[in-house]
Amino acid sequence: MTGRRHDAAVAVIGGGIAGAAACIALHRAGLETAWITPDAEPGADLVGESLAPAALPILDRLGLAAIVDGAAHRRSNASFSAWGSDLLVERNAAVHLEGPGRVLDRARFEADLRAVADGTADRRRSALVDATVEAGSWRLGLADGSALATGFLVDASGRASVVARRRAAMRRDDRLVAACAFLPHRDDGVEPTPATLIEAVPEGWWYASLLPDGRLSVAFFSDPDLLPRGLSRDRDRWSAMIGGTRHVAHWIADAGFGVETPPRLHSAATRWADPAAGKWTAPGGPPSATPPPRSTRCPRTA
Ligand SMILES: Cc1cc2nc3c(=O)[nH]c(=O)nc-3n(C[C@H](O)[C@H](O)[C@H](O)COP(=O)(O)OP(=O)(O)OC[C@H]3O[C@@H](n4cnc5c(N)ncnc54)[C@H](O)[C@@H]3O)c2cc1C
Repeated sequence: MTGRRHDAAVAVIGGGIAGAAACIALHRAGLETAWITPDAEPGADLVGESLAPAALPILDRLGLAAIVDGAAHRRSNASFSAWGSDLLVERNAAVHLEGPGRVLDRARFEADLRAVADGTADRRRSALVDATVEAGSWRLGLADGSALATGFLVDASGRASVVARRRAAMRRDDRLVAACAFLPHRDDGVEPTPATLIEAVPEGWWYASLLPDGRLSVAFFSDPDLLPRGLSRDRDRWSAMIGGTRHVAHWIADAGFGVETPPRLHSAATRWADPAAGKWTAPGGPPSATPPPRSTRCPRTA
């Protein structure tokens, strides 16, 4: 920090869970924050409904415990897995000291978090397109043509890693892909079990979880070369893949869910920045082994 005037002590990039939580935490620490998010946030059918029990104490520390207590979210009391064997093993939430995790209405959870975060930060509804370090300060350019200066930057732009990817090496552990679909419940005569089911198969593993709105979230995790070509346009192939499972297929048929659309594919590869947060988020800090470029052009978000 140089004593030069900043528009905010910290700028947080990204309107997802990490960005919103960062704004709330920074506010509680007494820091003025600028929050840079794209104008439009994704709507319904977001993947990522499983909130681990370990997240509950974190939400509590942020004063957000009540945010997951409403009827919009389901307590995750039971999960079943067939991993390394065909036998289903039940794991009850009683084993967790923090209590049951949640199966979230993910869009609602994100919207509620953003609503709290909105009151804690100066929100700029425009994507970051440029980030440059000048005399120990960040100069940030936004898609709407505005600019701001800040002393510290939190890159919470998720897989886009708009700043981190220019300031650090991005490492990848695997090439995991997730094929995800939301199945409507079609049989009023059956009440589906509120549970999560994991089933390992030679090419990867299946995940199925009853959502709070009664649909079944189904995902298959595998390597891209093990997935059939064109799967995201091929409902029949997807249906046949589900039909080849032992437990997931049984649950879908038994509880009356419909396989009506092909899945959407998402990268689920394990990736991280090296170095991680620290040097490149703290201009003026100790130089890294490979000096970062002085200017960072950020890819625009869709
Ligand atoms: C298939 C799949 C399933 C998953 N399931 C789960 C799960 O069940 N439970 C779980 O805990 N985790 C799950 N995850 C992990 C998931 O990544 C996290 O839950 C979470 O979405 C990460 O939040 P985030 O805020 O870091 O990133 P994101 O949710 O990706 O948010 C990134 C934000 O940055 C914004 N952004 C991007 N570029 C710019 C820019 N240039 N300027 C400004 N803003 C920008 C985006 O618009 C977005 O608002 C899953 C991941 C995958 C791939």
